[in-house]
Amino acid sequence: MNHKHIIIIGAGPAGLMAADVLSAAGMSVDVYESKPSVGRKFLMAGKGGLNITHNEPICDFIRRYDQPEWLKPMIDTFDATMIRAWMESLGVDSFVGTSGRVFPLEMKAAPLLRRWLSSLKKRGVRVHCRHYWQGFNDDGSLYFKSVDGEITATADATILALGGGSWASLGSDGAWVDILAAKGVKINPLSPSNCGFKATWSEFIQPHLGKPLKNISGWVGTPEEGISSSEAVLTTYGIEGGLVYALSRPLREEVIANGTATLYLDLLPHITEAQLVSRLTSSGKQSTDNTWRKAGLEGVKGAIIRELLPKNKWSDSSSVAACVKQCPIVLTGMQPIDEAISTAGGVMRESMSKDLMLHALPNVYCAGEMLDWDAPTGGYLLTASFASGVFAANGVLKTLTS
Ligand SMILES: Cc1cc2nc3c(=O)[nH]c(=O)nc-3n(C[C@H](O)[C@H](O)[C@H](O)COP(=O)(O)OP(=O)(O)OC[C@H]3O[C@@H](n4cnc5c(N)ncnc54)[C@H](O)[C@@H]3O)c2cc1C
Repeated sequence: MNHKHIIIIGAGPAGLMAADVLSAAGMSVDVYESKPSVGRKFLMAGKGGLNITHNEPICDFIRRYDQPEWLKPMIDTFDATMIRAWMESLGVDSFVGTSGRVFPLEMKAAPLLRRWLSSLKKRGVRVHCRHYWQGFNDDGSLYFKSVDGEITATADATILALGGGSWASLGSDGAWVDILAAKGVKINPLSPSNCGFKATWSEFIQPHLGKPLKNISGWVGTPEEGISSSEAVLTTYGIEGGLVYALSRPLREEVIANGTATLYLDLLPHITEAQLVSRLTSSGKQSTDNTWRKAGLEGVKGAIIRELLPKNKWSDSSSVAACVKQCPIVLTGMQPIDEAISTAGGVMRESMSKDLMLHALPNVYCAGEMLDWDAPTGGYLLTASFASGVFAANGVLKTLTS
């Protein structure tokens, strides 16, 4: 069993986690990575604080994914508790922050990645950077472009962990789509997820671009499906931020189907419409600015109402309150995939065995964001990437040792 040789292509969270499992099981592991160093997107994810997983009950956790029944066995294999235990085994403590989000104590990804690589090296994992995988030779071997020219490699099993198609400068460029599609692998086209959306703003909004819109709630369709107490930022191109990312799946579907999508915002979710009407009417003969400020509609929130409501309605409390509680923001498109935090689409479930082996390519497995699942930010992306890496590695072990 120790003589089995596995090639993993892609040294992001999914590929490195597969290397972790396989090397722990005594396999000979080579990891090939196109960039000069590993885990570049992982490091980028750590820049604003690495939200590595989420500490909520598994029944809630799993509902964040668009294909929960597919992801469930994977997440069960490496859930939030196991991720935290694994971090601890590397000497990295974690904590549960607001709303259950889990971070390493030092917030950054770099210390964790450094310790992880050192542990993999001790187990004999060989990492080959600057090796860009370009496809399969006729005999099924893999070929790479490297600084030394073209390299051919073979293994008992291969795990592809090539990432999605966003932030191509960090390595995951989605070029694998054509290679696998040519082999008969079914792929849902890659599209932006957890991304900003385009909108056109009038002069009312211009002074407020870049300022956060705090403590709002939003929804697409009905308010019951909404996200509460979140943030967004209006930008020169439109709107972005946690609330928009969390709703990016239904927004994307609406944009693809109709060309536009409507995002509804409640700018003051903590009071009722009736309470707001009362606040707006009780301030007597004051300027609109003062009345709105006292009601909680200063700055960017007031600008949005000015944007949406005709001027002759600004002193009509009922119209203002109705608009505040249900602001329709028309979105005219998505930001480009390269600027998205993650990618929806990818290798379809029906193209793979339960163990994530491709039907079209025996002994070739896939893991990570290149699989056709989607989830909001909040630790769910990294968790599924890690977990599918573990799951594919377990699949390899099952096949090679049976
Ligand atoms: C700005 C930003 C912030 C984020 N923040 C968070 C967060 O806080 N929490 C969270 O859960 N997720 C976050 N994410 C998402 C998370 O980083 C990704 O979902 C995760 O890295 C995907 O892991 P992966 O291993 O599948 O792919 P990747 O991390 O993309 O790794 C794939 C690897 O494959 C290599 N590769 C690709 N093609 C080839 C090839 N042909 N040959 C050789 N190598 C190749 C790439 O260079 C890359 O190293 C964030 C993403 C971004 C961009």
